[in-house]
Amino acid sequence: MPTIIPIPAFTDNYIWLLRNGHNAVVVDPGDAAPVLAVLAREQLQLTAILTTHHHQDHVGGNTALLAHARVPVFGPARESIPGCTQRLKENDTFVVPGIGIELRVLDIPGHTAGHIAYVGQLSATSHLAFVGDTMFACGCGRLFEGTAAQMSDSLAKLAALDGDTLVYCGHEYTLSNLRFAAAVEPDNVALKARTVRAQEQRSRGEPTVPSMLAEERATNPFLRGSEPAVVAAAAAHAGRAIEGNVDAFAVLRAWKDSF
Ligand code: ZN
Ligand code: FE
Repeated sequence: MPTIIPIPAFTDNYIWLLRNGHNAVVVDPGDAAPVLAVLAREQLQLTAILTTHHHQDHVGGNTALLAHARVPVFGPARESIPGCTQRLKENDTFVVPGIGIELRVLDIPGHTAGHIAYVGQLSATSHLAFVGDTMFACGCGRLFEGTAAQMSDSLAKLAALDGDTLVYCGHEYTLSNLRFAAAVEPDNVALKARTVRAQEQRSRGEPTVPSMLAEERATNPFLRGSEPAVVAAAAAHAGRAIEGNVDAFAVLRAWKDSF
């Protein structure tokens, strides 16, 4: 069975490396140097690059990695990705070269206009999703190119995946997201437990990612726009009534931006 490890990059990025035997595929290599170091240390052969969106901290390593190994680059059809050879859209499926697992593509616009996710199964019992900067552990990405309605739809699409899905996002933002979530839902017991665990992981220098989708549904305020406690908190913050899920999401996103 393939394994997945994080390669930390810059201050808080995660480049995800899928490994099967001596083959390796990286997701969102914003920087080539840490990837090349792991390939050399573990004697791995790069067999593909997967990209979720066009931001530099997710594609900045593509060109140097392609100089090292000419491999297929999978990316969103609606964005310009350095070296892209396989342009993907909603419901496209493909077998990851060298790794052998099948992934399916979801269009999840909002953070960027063409952002995609990759979802699939590692084994009979474990699902995974590479979500880039759309969903974070207990948070979500900023709206750089999309609307609140688009982002809210994209998060709902991810939230509908199997509860046992491991969610691999692009940044370690968890502690700051948990602080915001606690301001929204101070009485959420699952959130308190998650916060204790994340603080312990970070104090040991461990990643808090991937997270489990079922726990995101229970604690991530951006997936909880129809929960009465979240609606009440959004209304209190906005000083007006909340008109549905998208409105709740928009208020929460703006609140987090100024938190
Ligand atoms: Zn981004
Ligand atoms: Fe990013």
